[in-house]
Amino acid sequence: MIINMRAGATEQEVNHVVDRIKELGFGAHVIKGEERSVIGIVGLSEKRRSELEALVSAPGVEEMVKISHPFKLASRSVRPEGSIFEIGKGVVVGGERVVVAAGPCAVESPEQIHDIAAKVAQSGAKLLRGGAFKPRSSPYSFQGMGLDGLKLLREAADKNGLLVVSEVMDPSQIDIMRDYVDVMQVGARNMQNYHLLRGLGEIDKPVLLKRGMSATLEELLLSAEYIMAGGNYRVILCERGIRTFDTYLRNTLDIAAIPVVKSLSHLPIFADPSHGTGRRDKVGAMARAAVAAGADGLIIEVHPDPERALSDGAQSLYPDQFAQLMDEVRLIAPAVHRSVTEPTMARV
Ligand code: PEP
Ligand code: MN
Repeated sequence: MIINMRAGATEQEVNHVVDRIKELGFGAHVIKGEERSVIGIVGLSEKRRSELEALVSAPGVEEMVKISHPFKLASRSVRPEGSIFEIGKGVVVGGERVVVAAGPCAVESPEQIHDIAAKVAQSGAKLLRGGAFKPRSSPYSFQGMGLDGLKLLREAADKNGLLVVSEVMDPSQIDIMRDYVDVMQVGARNMQNYHLLRGLGEIDKPVLLKRGMSATLEELLLSAEYIMAGGNYRVILCERGIRTFDTYLRNTLDIAAIPVVKSLSHLPIFADPSHGTGRRDKVGAMARAAVAAGADGLIIEVHPDPERALSDGAQSLYPDQFAQLMDEVRLIAPAVHRSVTEPTMARV
C-alpha cells in the first residue's frame, strides 16, 4: 500500500501520516518526488489493511493505492516519473544522460589501473570500475588485490575526475569499502545474499545491484526491496546476462529486461554487455542495443592489454574499441531522447 500525498502537502501533514502508520506498528518510508511525497507502507497484511483506511481523509492525503507486486518500495507506482539521483561529483543516474562505467574486471597493478582510468575518462566514462575482491568461479583463480586494490582504484579515479564502482562480496567488507568506493556493486552471485543486501540498506551509498544469472526480474526487484527497506533508496539495477539453453556465448543478455523493469519499477537500470556476452567482438552490438532499449547506463570492461588480463580478458575491450563504442552510443542515444556522458577533460 502507498499513500500519495497532495502536491504541496506540508511536512507536518506528511509527518502526521507517518506517525499514525508507525503507531499501528507498520513501517513507513517517505519518498520525496519532485512535486509530491509518497509514503510507502511496509509490513502490512491483507487482514490489517482496514486499520489504515481512516488515513485517506487525513490532511494532505490525496489517495491510497494498493500495490499488487510483492516488491513495494521498488514499484513504479511509488514514483511514476522514475527515480533520478546523484551518485557523486554531480553525476546523476536515471535522468537524460546515459552514464557509463568502464575499467578492468579486476585491479591488477598501479600501472594498469592508472593507464586505463586516464583512457576511459578521455572517452567519457564517469565511473571507473574494477574489482578488488573478486568472486571467481574457481578458488585457484586470481582473487583480487583487496584493500591495496581499493586504494589504487580511488587514486586513479581521483586523478581522472572519475567515481569508483567496485564489488562488495560480504557484509564484513562494507566498512572498509565505503571509504574508497562511490558505488557499491553487488555481483550476480550475491544478488540473493540477503545479509549483504540488508547491510547495504543501512549505508548512505548508491548500490549497483546485478541480476543473478538465474534470477527472475521479480527476484531482482525483491533484492532491491531488501536494500530500500533499510532506507537506502539509491539502487541501480543491472542486467548482466542470464543462463539460457544456448551455450554459444557466456550468457544471454536479456535486453527485454530493460523495458520490462522500466515498467515495473522506478529504479534506473544499467546493462553490462561484457559479462552479458563474454566475447569482446559482441560487446559493441549489445551496448548499442541496450542504449536503444532505454538503459540508463552501461558498465563495460576495458583493459590496456586484454590478452594479459588476470580475469575476463576475452570480454575486455581495447581502449580504442571503447572510444569507438562511446562514439557509436552517442549517435544512438538521441534517437531515444538521451545523451551519453562526455569527457570532463578534453581528449588528447
Ligand atoms: C564483474 O563485474 O566483474 C562481475 C564479477 O560481474 P558479475 O557479478 O555480473 O558476474
Ligand atoms: Mn569481470
